[in-house]
Amino acid sequence: MKAAVLEAFNQPLVVKEVADPTLTPDGIILKLEATGVCRSDWHGWAGHMTNAMQPLPHILGHEMSGIIEEVGSNIRNFKKGDRVIVPFSQGDGTCPHCQSGHHNVCDNMKMVGFNFEGGFAQYVHIPNADLNLLHLPDGVDFLTASAMGCRFMTAFHGVVSRGSVRPGEWVAVYGSGGVGLSAIQIASAAGANVIAVDIADDKLEFAKQFGAVATVNSKNVNAPQAIKELTKGGANISIDALGIQDTVISSLLSLNKRGRHVQIGISPNPNGGMTPVPVNLIMMNELSLLGSVSMPIPEYREMLQMVEKGKLNPGRLVTKQIALDDINSAFEDMTNYAGFGLTVVTKF
Ligand SMILES: [Zn+2]
Ligand SMILES: [Zn+2]
Repeated sequence: MKAAVLEAFNQPLVVKEVADPTLTPDGIILKLEATGVCRSDWHGWAGHMTNAMQPLPHILGHEMSGIIEEVGSNIRNFKKGDRVIVPFSQGDGTCPHCQSGHHNVCDNMKMVGFNFEGGFAQYVHIPNADLNLLHLPDGVDFLTASAMGCRFMTAFHGVVSRGSVRPGEWVAVYGSGGVGLSAIQIASAAGANVIAVDIADDKLEFAKQFGAVATVNSKNVNAPQAIKELTKGGANISIDALGIQDTVISSLLSLNKRGRHVQIGISPNPNGGMTPVPVNLIMMNELSLLGSVSMPIPEYREMLQMVEKGKLNPGRLVTKQIALDDINSAFEDMTNYAGFGLTVVTKF
C-alpha cells in the first residue's frame, strides 16, 4: 500500500510503497477515506512525543474514517463494507475506568497513530476493534467524520460533559484553532453565548461564523477585563484550548463567581505542565478547575446524532482537502502557523 512514512523527525514524510498491515483476530483492516492532519501529528513529526510514540519509521495520522476491508476472527460488531469512525484514544475495555464507561482515562490507553501505525496511508489496522470503533450514521460523510475524530470530540466532551454548559450561560474560549472553533460551535448549539479569544484577527473573524457573539483580541486588550465587561461580571465557563501559562491564568481570571474553568489545552511547561494559578481567587469565588481529555466512547452516540440531524456541523471546520502525496504541505503550514481550520487528506 501507499503510505506517508515518518523516517526522521523534522524531515519531510516519505510517501512510498510499504507492506500492507497485518490483521489480528481482535482487529480490523480499514480502507481510509479521510484522515485529518492535527497539531498532535505535527508534535509527533517534530519529535515532541517520543515517550508516547513507537520508534521510527512510523506512520502518523489519527483523525480517521473509512470502510472496513477485513475483520479478524473474533470481531462481532463489524463486517466488511461497514462505514466507521475511529476514536483517537482507545481503551483496553478491562480496567476499572473502561468498565465504568470512561475509556478516555483508561489505565492502558493507546493513541491511534502514535502507539500503533495511523491513517496517513491507504489502509490501517485497528486492534481491539469491537470496543474502539463506531459505525458512522448514514447521514454523516467521511470528511465530516474525520473532522470529528480528535479535536471536535475533545471539545464536545469538554463543553458538554465536563463544563456542563447550560442555555444562556456565557462561555469564553481561549484559542480559535481546531479545538477552540469546535468548542465555539458546540457551546453555541447548546444555547450559550460564546466569546472567542485569540491573538489573530482572521481566526476571530472565522470564529464568528461558528457562533461567537463577541470576540476579544488578547494582543490588543486585557482579555479577562474585556470578558468581565461583555458579560457584566464574568463568564460562567471558560475553556483554555491552548495550555500556555497566559491562557490558563487569563481563563481563570475571566470567570464569574462559581464559574468553571475547563482545561483542554496541554501545557508545554516542564515537570508535567507546572503552572501557577490564583489559589485565593479559586477559593474566594468558589471556582472549579476541571480537566478534560478526549472523549469516552458512549458519548459519541449523542454527538453523532446531533451531527446527523444538522445541529452540529464539524465538516464546516475543514478549510482544505489534500492528497496523501501533498501531505508535507500541511506540515509546513503548521510549522509556519499558516491558515486556519482543518486540513484533511481525502485522496489516498
Ligand atoms: Zn488530533
Ligand atoms: Zn481501560
